[in-house]
Amino acid sequence: MSTDDIRDDTILEEYRESVDHPIYRLFSEYGRDHAHWFAIGVVTSTLARFLSLVPPVILGIAIDAVFSDDQVYSLPLVPQAWIPGSTEGQFWLSVALMGVAMALAAVMNFGRTSTLNWFSHRVKHEVRTDTYQQMQRLDMSFFNDMQTGELMSILNNDTNRLELFLDNMMDSAIQLAVLLLGIGAILFWINPQLALVTLVILPVAGLFTLWFMRRVEVMYAQIRSQVGDLNTRLENNLSGIEVIKSATTEEYEGDRVEETSYEYFRRDWRALRMNLIYRPGLQLLTSFAFIATFIVGGIWVLSGPPLAFTGTLSVGELVTFLLLTQRLVDPLAQMSEIVDRYEDAKASTSRIYALMAIPVSITDADDAVELEDANGRVEYDNVGFSYDGETTVLRNVDFAVEPGETVGLVGPTGAGKTTILKLLLRLYDVDSGAVRVDGYDVRDVTLASLRGSIGYVSQDPFLFDGTIRENLTYGAFDATDEEMIEAAKMAEAHEFVRNLSKGYDTQVGERGVKLSGGQRQRLCIARTILADPPILILDEATSDVDTETEMLIQRSLDRVTENRTTFVIAHRLSTIREADEILVVEDGRIVEDGTHEELIDEDGLYANLWSVQAGEIDDLDAEFVERASRRAAMRSRDTEDE
Ligand code: ADP
Repeated sequence: MSTDDIRDDTILEEYRESVDHPIYRLFSEYGRDHAHWFAIGVVTSTLARFLSLVPPVILGIAIDAVFSDDQVYSLPLVPQAWIPGSTEGQFWLSVALMGVAMALAAVMNFGRTSTLNWFSHRVKHEVRTDTYQQMQRLDMSFFNDMQTGELMSILNNDTNRLELFLDNMMDSAIQLAVLLLGIGAILFWINPQLALVTLVILPVAGLFTLWFMRRVEVMYAQIRSQVGDLNTRLENNLSGIEVIKSATTEEYEGDRVEETSYEYFRRDWRALRMNLIYRPGLQLLTSFAFIATFIVGGIWVLSGPPLAFTGTLSVGELVTFLLLTQRLVDPLAQMSEIVDRYEDAKASTSRIYALMAIPVSITDADDAVELEDANGRVEYDNVGFSYDGETTVLRNVDFAVEPGETVGLVGPTGAGKTTILKLLLRLYDVDSGAVRVDGYDVRDVTLASLRGSIGYVSQDPFLFDGTIRENLTYGAFDATDEEMIEAAKMAEAHEFVRNLSKGYDTQVGERGVKLSGGQRQRLCIARTILADPPILILDEATSDVDTETEMLIQRSLDRVTENRTTFVIAHRLSTIREADEILVVEDGRIVEDGTHEELIDEDGLYANLWSVQAGEIDDLDAEFVERASRRAAMRSRDTEDE
């Protein structure tokens, strides 16, 4: 098991253990709004089952009274005066009663399936939507620890397990309860002594079920968690298929998938093995009840009450007894499936509730204000930050940017440039100090208004599945075509989009036309331009394009950034040469700041980086080279540690 898997499990496991009575909570929280459908389902299901018991009872009575004249024709709850005197009349009454009961049962069955299905599908839909909403709210730090595959597994597999349980099993459970109570009552009404013989298996079956439930509960939790692991592995490998192929690690990855899948099989099989004992076990018990009833009842009918039994038993009564006992066999055997699905659903519900229980720390404060029409003044006030609470990533970051200014951030990889800007977006909260926009602490304004004021073009331009038009207007849904084309022109994207066969209606994303990194980047810039935010973050936004395109984008960016506060993280220092201020970040600290000219004069880290890029490697400071190689050594050590 890789370290990632262990991390996944611990987060979810921690919260899963704190989830009490998941199925009860599911019903009380999600079932409440649809309780009326559920109630109708229960009533119709109950009636359908009771109606299904009518024919065997009538049959028993008819055998005794109509066919063999052993007894008087009498029906429970029906006054004797209503019953016809002639045998023929009684025969047709029996036929009519059975026919009506069957027809009514069919109607009730329709009511039962439609309402219970509606109930279970609604609950599943709402649980899925809520789980997704919660996932969107969760802090970024959570996504660092949790794998996409695991989350997909909760959103998909686990919610689907609920349906399996709610749909069929609820109905089966109702059916079982009704049949047990109904059949039990009828058997006792016909002959309490023989009923004891038949029903003595019930407590035994109960104990057997309890034993089974105890054992499979843990097994199902393990299975669900293994499904998550398997999903994670598959998702990882599919996204990294290019790396796998180019590194020819197919065999290695094949083995890893096999290992994870085998573990899933093993856990699944273990639970299944329990089922293999439980199901036939229950069946055997009910068959035993049937045989015992037949033996005792048979002797009774043939030669009077055996052993300590007293009274009489007619053939008709015995037939009813046996028919009804037979009716118990299937539902009781089904009980194993109900219990099985119940445990399965409980494991899934626990995982869903565990996800829901994970606290979200980055949310709107109760008294959060809207950041309206921000001017774009940004201030970092002695900020300190760490991702994991242990390794300090930023310390004493302190600077201010006036509205409309362009700030360049430079420094070695891993220095903390991206992290500084993630704090502005409040993807994470600072550990000490404060980040302010227009004088407001970012923690005091609503997340939506804060992030809505900031445009972010990341290092890894992402396009959603959909057309170019949908991607460009993402977030600025009301934009007109003219505005969209204008933005695309500014980002130097219009030309290449026009040359695509379907222009702005071309499908992009995973299933669409494959665009180059540079083209994707230009589309993302256009999207941000269209959203027109007062603050702009360009994170190595032009790293993926050729020099010529970069020059074009740079030209348009100069226009775009003109009257908005802009942060540019750039490795190519030429792109930020004109910035109003350049911050040089090293080891989580701002070590130099000033304009390009000032920093060159200072002859520090920036001046040296500039020399490297200008190709003046021979003129570098000895100390700079030493620091660079020290950093490179640390980076390779970090990689080894991983
Ligand atoms: P830069 O943008 O200057 O290359 P980053 O801000 O991306 O640097 O990273 C700064 C430090 O924080 C690095 O040591 C990096 O390993 C660490 N880091 C970045 N992102 C995360 C994260 N999501 N979780 C934990 N550590 C991170």
